[in-house]
Amino acid sequence: MEKQPNYYNHKEIYARVNSYVDTQSQQDLLRFITCGSVDNGKSTLIGRMLYEAQMIFEDQVISLQSDSKKVGTQGADIDFALLVDGLAAEREQGITIDVAYRFFSTDHRKFIVADTPGHEQYTRNMVTGASTANVAIILIDASQGVLTQTRRHSFIASLLGVKHVVLAVNKMDLVEFSKDRFHEICSEYQVLCRHLSFKSVTPIPLSALRGDNIINRSGRMGWYQGPTLLGFLDTFDIQEKLNQFAFRFPVQWVNRPNADFRGFSGTVVAGSIRPGDKIRALPSGQTASIDRIILSNYDLDQAVTDQAVTLTLDCEIDLSRGDLIVSADAPCQVSDQFNAELVWMDTEPGYVGRQYILRLGTSQANASLSLIKFKYCVNTFEHLSGRELFFNDIANVQITLDTEIPFEAYTNCPGLGAFVLIDRYNNSTVAAGMIRFALRRSSNVHRQALLVDRAAREKLSGHRGRVAWLTGLSGSGKSTIASAAEKVLHEQGYRTYILDGDNMRHGLSKDLGFTVADRVENIRRIAEVAKLMMDAGVIVLTALISPFRDERDMAKSLFEPDDFLEVFIDTPLALAEKRDPKGLYKKARNGEIPNFSGIDSEYQPPKNPSLILKTEDRTVAESAKVLVELILTRSQDQNTKLQW
Ligand code: ADP
Repeated sequence: MEKQPNYYNHKEIYARVNSYVDTQSQQDLLRFITCGSVDNGKSTLIGRMLYEAQMIFEDQVISLQSDSKKVGTQGADIDFALLVDGLAAEREQGITIDVAYRFFSTDHRKFIVADTPGHEQYTRNMVTGASTANVAIILIDASQGVLTQTRRHSFIASLLGVKHVVLAVNKMDLVEFSKDRFHEICSEYQVLCRHLSFKSVTPIPLSALRGDNIINRSGRMGWYQGPTLLGFLDTFDIQEKLNQFAFRFPVQWVNRPNADFRGFSGTVVAGSIRPGDKIRALPSGQTASIDRIILSNYDLDQAVTDQAVTLTLDCEIDLSRGDLIVSADAPCQVSDQFNAELVWMDTEPGYVGRQYILRLGTSQANASLSLIKFKYCVNTFEHLSGRELFFNDIANVQITLDTEIPFEAYTNCPGLGAFVLIDRYNNSTVAAGMIRFALRRSSNVHRQALLVDRAAREKLSGHRGRVAWLTGLSGSGKSTIASAAEKVLHEQGYRTYILDGDNMRHGLSKDLGFTVADRVENIRRIAEVAKLMMDAGVIVLTALISPFRDERDMAKSLFEPDDFLEVFIDTPLALAEKRDPKGLYKKARNGEIPNFSGIDSEYQPPKNPSLILKTEDRTVAESAKVLVELILTRSQDQNTKLQW
């Protein structure tokens, strides 16, 4: 009888596919990152691993062979770098892919390798790639040894909590497979590791190009007894540490298809949970028990770390998107101030006092950098001082939020300890951070309740306290108009005060200069003083250039909307320069005053001020009158109206 062709045998094919899928799903997953400078052989290594793990399709091998011949860098051999670099070229042409993840598997486990491009964006890319890696492969060119880049990559990997490192001493063929050279490099790396927090470092001598010690033991390095690279990765013990941590589940979505079903969907970021377990919802603090754990259409008897599931509860509690479900007996830390490591990723520098949006898990809050404790020198590991953060800087900072959020230390639970800072205007991610600990101050410093409050003081004043924040170029007329307005108010019996930029710089801010960082700090101080004076029942007028929107918004955010009036003294640069009451423009144009607003430092006009005073069209007296009217309509109400 004629034998049926294989493809008719559906059952057998299904069985084989099913058994393949089954083995695959039971295999564990190791994530690793490869870090190396441009010519250390990173692409060749990844290409070689994919090839040796038989993850390259036959047609890819054929085209690789012919491309290799064409390029001719490796004679008749395959140039594995072409495989990976082909993708790199794609990456550069189209939308930027910061990190390419490649998947491959052996008989023992599955692998995801994060391939991070080595150009100047490396810090940012490494942060993305290393944050989930179990192992970092630090590539060294045996002919070059430990380089600056090796130090940087190792430092960042350590900072991101990678505990295990393979020191892949590549290109051993270039040093005649020398044992001494290998040991020399190992000793050098060992010295560097004293500054880092790795648990294990496994040095392996190899040649990615020739395939030595990748999967097959090299005959040319008989002196080496350790594991091959894939041998190590295949058997490396992946600790399920996070499954042992308390249960943490940020709610991404409340799934409510009809009145009978209310589920909470998200990904388990730490710990595990079973039906019947008691949970607590944060921030409400209410408790309930898990009823069901649903994964697509199945009910599970347990959900573990990294699993995306929907949970249902045995009773209705207050819980919505952005909230956190935690095990009832292991509450999460909650704070509005913490110490963190921050990697600055934006070309626009970061400044103390400037406000950003912080996103952590599904929580969001307004955040400001309250202190740059130190910046790391990633070559020498020294601590450097600094008042601003530049592109690729890594620093230890303090962050203050406008609200309390639940979090964990990054080393315990990356899912609730890693955050990003986002620019409030253009929505770009400016920094990635890792929380180290909450600042105790946040729970130990409480506001003192006082017997006389703002309302009582305002009653005595006979009017409300307010802040009119005048902004505009130097010479636009802020001080002149503020002074004229104050005179009018004073004559009518209002308690007033002017916080004038120049005057403040003689006292409160005399330690500050005119760099962006110092301007930001100057505004922060004056905003805080204005707030105190307003609380004392005084109408405060500020006359500061306050050139940056960010800082004016920061000042504004300290006040209730009605208490803060942003007034734009709108004078064209040419006119302000023509007036030049203090001769400052002249000096600035001569290069005697660096960072002068409007000349060599930006002035950002307000987008939506309470009042615009165009001084081209109005006399000082007219402007003062309009300003006084605005302040008074906002500063009187029925209860506190002044009776003169
Ligand atoms: P700023 O405080 O904004 O640096 P100043 O108030 O010190 O500016 O200086 C503004 C100068 O412009 C003053 O000399 C003022 O007399 C002059 N000036 C002329 N016309 C006007 C106007 N319409 N409004 C405000 N100032 C004016």
